[in-house]
Amino acid sequence: MPNGPVVASEAQTDEFNPFSSMEKLFNRAADVLDLDEGLRSLLRTPERELTVALPVRMDDGTIRVFTGYRVQHNFLRGPCKGGIRFAPDVNIDEVRALAAWMTWKCSIVDIPFGGGKGGVICDPRELSIGELERITRRYTAAIIDILGPDRDVPAPDMNTNEQTMAWIMDTYSMHVRRTTTAVVTGKPISLGGSRGRHEATGRGVMLVCREAMKKLGRRPEATTVVVQGSGNVGGIGALLLHREGYKIVSLSDMYGTLHNDQGLDVPAALDHLRANKTLEGFGEGDHMPNGEQLELECDVLVPAATENQITSENADRIKASLIIEGANGPCTAAAQDILVDRGVVVVPDILANAGGVTVSYFEWVQDRWGYFWTEDVVNSRLEQIMVKAFSDVDGVAESHGVSMRVAAYTLAIERVVNVYRMRGLFA
Ligand code: NAD
Repeated sequence: MPNGPVVASEAQTDEFNPFSSMEKLFNRAADVLDLDEGLRSLLRTPERELTVALPVRMDDGTIRVFTGYRVQHNFLRGPCKGGIRFAPDVNIDEVRALAAWMTWKCSIVDIPFGGGKGGVICDPRELSIGELERITRRYTAAIIDILGPDRDVPAPDMNTNEQTMAWIMDTYSMHVRRTTTAVVTGKPISLGGSRGRHEATGRGVMLVCREAMKKLGRRPEATTVVVQGSGNVGGIGALLLHREGYKIVSLSDMYGTLHNDQGLDVPAALDHLRANKTLEGFGEGDHMPNGEQLELECDVLVPAATENQITSENADRIKASLIIEGANGPCTAAAQDILVDRGVVVVPDILANAGGVTVSYFEWVQDRWGYFWTEDVVNSRLEQIMVKAFSDVDGVAESHGVSMRVAAYTLAIERVVNVYRMRGLFA
């Protein structure tokens, strides 16, 4: 566990370190709230960090030791909530930043969770399904003491999915000797998953885009959109925006960018992606390398792939006047300043992609209740929460004269501080 305020690792104290980006934004909001140094330190410091070694037998009989992390940033408002990512470059600073973002995100949508996040350093593309299952089960067993429906409830993130959640739920249930569906969210519906969870983050992106457009007095039919990433958030976000009447002029995946300024047939492009595992070869539109996608001519940009995509290097070449952050941390703190100076409205990640955690909360409630809702009920409750969260953040932005991002942090931190003040400091 860290002792004293956590600072980003020295090797990465630069613009691209997500934890240092998070700290900068945290400090701006803390200034708005006039928080003293003690409170700042308390709220910045992760409550618990676990690094685990995961020895796993590979298909060829050899043993490899993987490294896993689980960071619980803050559990003042309830059990920690946050995804688990499998990636070759995942590191502790990234997991810390993502865990802190989860605290603020849960607070913005006002659901009774704190923030956590996990990661395992591995390259899923090189692993068989059996190896992935053994890594997941060993990771679950290694962090089991800090997991549980009342302690910490993981969910999928990059390169993890419903199957991963099913293995975690099973491993946890085998250890505690009873089926405990509420220990993870993002499960298959047959194992206690929620209807609407798969689409929830993309749906939330669409809903906040709609609210931002109303505020700016714009109509979907007259609006072009570029979406970076075609996975759970980008793909579903693009599909729902397309259904609302927006013209999606570009989609991308990790291999390249598809562009058509007449508008893409999004359902057909996503069918092609599902069938071929790449957008390459889709007949309509031009294919280009990823580097230039974010700078394409458009009204709305939805970065929904990964962090650090809009930086001080390219922020002044972004053409969009509205950015909806589907991914976590797609703009660095330095890029944010450039965008705000240029008058670009940025709906920040901790608001824009909070639809996923909101329906995760619904899933946890349904599992504990043992009573499952229809998709319409899920979607309409999600809509109520996202619309209110947008309006709450917008209200803080107006009243303090700050950007939506600083407003989102300010609102989130203030809610956590209020809980802290009522609970007091345990000693
Ligand atoms: P995913 O793995 O389903 O999809 C990621 C997509 O991005 C894929 O299409 C991939 O090919 C593409 N991609 C990766 N690098 C790219 C690049 N450099 N350029 C263009 N495309 C690239 O992941 P996801 O669940 O959609 O998550 C995307 C982001 O959204 C992450 O930052 C994640 O933390 C965040 N997020 C996800 C959820 C959720 O519910 N899935 C919720 C909140 C936030």
